[in-house]
Amino acid sequence: MSAQIIDGKQQAQILNQKTKEELQKIEKEHGFTPCLAVVLVGEDPASQVYVRNKVRTAGEIGIKSLEFVLPADTKQEDLEAKVKELSKDESVDGILVQLPLPKHLNQDAVIEKIDPLKDVDGLTEKSAGKLSLGKIGLRACTPSGSVILAKSALGDDLTGLNVVIIGRSILVGKPAALLFLEENCTVTIAHSKTKNLEEICKNADILVAAVGRPLMVKGDWVKKGACVIDVGINRVENNAVDAKSKTKLVGDVDFESAKEIAGQITPVPGGVGPMTIACLMQNTIIAAKLRRNLV
Ligand code: NDP
Repeated sequence: MSAQIIDGKQQAQILNQKTKEELQKIEKEHGFTPCLAVVLVGEDPASQVYVRNKVRTAGEIGIKSLEFVLPADTKQEDLEAKVKELSKDESVDGILVQLPLPKHLNQDAVIEKIDPLKDVDGLTEKSAGKLSLGKIGLRACTPSGSVILAKSALGDDLTGLNVVIIGRSILVGKPAALLFLEENCTVTIAHSKTKNLEEICKNADILVAAVGRPLMVKGDWVKKGACVIDVGINRVENNAVDAKSKTKLVGDVDFESAKEIAGQITPVPGGVGPMTIACLMQNTIIAAKLRRNLV
């Protein structure tokens, strides 16, 4: 029997509706509208699409948004100055710097200029520290979305489940591991130096693939009935006879073979992607409340 497809768009809509209600409550009770500032450097087409989707979703929810598009050759000091200015701006609640930045820029230094109270991507040292200490703070969006999708498929209580995360990046793998740990899961983090990766994956009740390698995880790596969360977004050639476009998006999981073994699986696109944006919107509201001590 084929796996249940976890509908990331539907789950994102549910979360966006909750965020909208929370925003309307803030407007009514506290008289302000939360505001998200998005900074894009350069003209990378994928980043442009991500930024457009984020700004559009903010608009649909009613969150104010400010968009700053800087040229690809922006200097480090100019980008840092922009981020510092937004950090000081009282009317801005959340700051998102779209990653990756052009190669000549020092990403970490830019991120550290974000006021941690406005760090809606959960990437500053302070946000990462709070996550590892289990303190209230802003959590990274893609990992948060992955946990929500797993819960939508398996129920709210993930206690005791074996989670294997392939990938140990600051953006996805590491924070995802800590978030599943907060859910009382037993977490294994795999990476490019991991031995017997397939065997380790076969042990997972929840398998999270965050690698950036198209279709790497095959169906026979998946335990029967496991929940598969595919974070990967890879653009590959589209060889289908009736293809309307020369390229298409695929995940890190070979969806066709994995869906025959898994119990539940996220598609790409339409899985973790929409949830990432929904979590960003939720974080903007959380940031607006945290900064004003309304939490
Ligand atoms: P990174 O390149 O930063 O990290 C990739 C990780 O995968 C590394 O930890 C690396 O190990 C590991 N890895 C690489 N090759 C192998 C291998 N052969 N076997 C096991 N592990 C391997 O990527 P990100 O974490 O930023 O992103 C991962 C994927 O998620 C990408 O496809 C990205 O586009 C997507 N993504 C999707 C988002 C969404 O909204 N859906 C948001 C963010 C990212 P090592 O550390 O040893 O090098």
